[in-house]
Order: sequence, then C-alpha cells, then structure tokens
Amino acid sequence: MNKKLIPDCRLRSVYHLDFEWLTVNKIKYFLVDLDNTLDAYLTKIPSKKATNLKHSLEARGITMIIISNNRGNRVKTYAEALGVRYLAHAKKPGTRHVREFLRQNHIEVATCIYAGDQILSDVLFGNRLGVKTILVEPLTPFDQPITRFNRIYDRILRKKLSKIMLLSEEEKYDE
Ligand SMILES: [Mg+2]
Repeated sequence: MNKKLIPDCRLRSVYHLDFEWLTVNKIKYFLVDLDNTLDAYLTKIPSKKATNLKHSLEARGITMIIISNNRGNRVKTYAEALGVRYLAHAKKPGTRHVREFLRQNHIEVATCIYAGDQILSDVLFGNRLGVKTILVEPLTPFDQPITRFNRIYDRILRKKLSKIMLLSEEEKYDE
C-alpha cells in the first residue's frame, strides 16, 4: 500500500481524540475536515460535540481550523457558527491552497495535525502536506454526491489498511 495513504493514527471519530498525544507532539493547530468528520454533511449548525471539542482544544492552547473541499457558503455558515477559521474549496488532496492559507495566517506546518474521514482526499492530503494524519470513520453513511464514487474506493483501501493497521487507537478510546 502506498505510504502516502497510511495515516499515523486511526480513530472512530475526532471525538475520540487523545489531547495528551497532541500536547506531547507540540500541536498548536488542529486542522480538520468538515463533512462526515466534524458533522454530517447536511448539518448546517455545529453539534454540541463539535462545540465541546473546539473548547477542549482551546483549553489546551490548540486552535481548530476547518479545511474543507466543500463550497464556500456551506463551510462559512458552519465555521462561523462554531467560531473557527476555515478554508473552503481547499482542493484536497492538493496542498497548494492550504499551504498558501497557512502562510497567510503565519502558521507553521510543523505545528499542525490533520484529521479527516477519507483516505484518498484526507490522508493523502495530510501526508503530502507533511503533517501527522488521523483517519476517522465517517460519522454517517451519507455523502454528498461528489464523494460517493470516492467512498467506494475508500472502503477497498480501508480493508487493505486494516491488514497493516488495526483500529487499535479506536479500541483504546472506545466507550
Ligand atoms: Mg469528509
């Protein structure tokens, strides 16, 4: 399996994060995908879980930033309600837009971590950017139409991934 498709860590969701692990790795910015990672893609208003996660990160000096391929309005509405910075139309797995965004915001790549629910766009993106990557399980089985094809391939890749990387982190943090 291509190394760029292998995450550093697998979790059931971003709501199973080990904050201590972030602190140990000197993470200052939690870059995170929106759809099916923070909330379902039809969710316009951030869930309480998402709000709590943002606050828990902030309490540890870590800033959440949404990096989404979705269109501007959807991402803007959600991110502004959550009170976090965001980049829409990020064109993951490409890294050009994100690198430019980080540069403009005076954020060093080395202080970031990235979490998302798709191997082909999220894990590949994070590894190309050169940050630690967290792969989560999609929050819901429902995707926006553009993602549906990718999801079929994603399932195949996840099976391959499971042969070399079990959801050990998930088990560790499972309720
Ligand atoms: Mg997603």
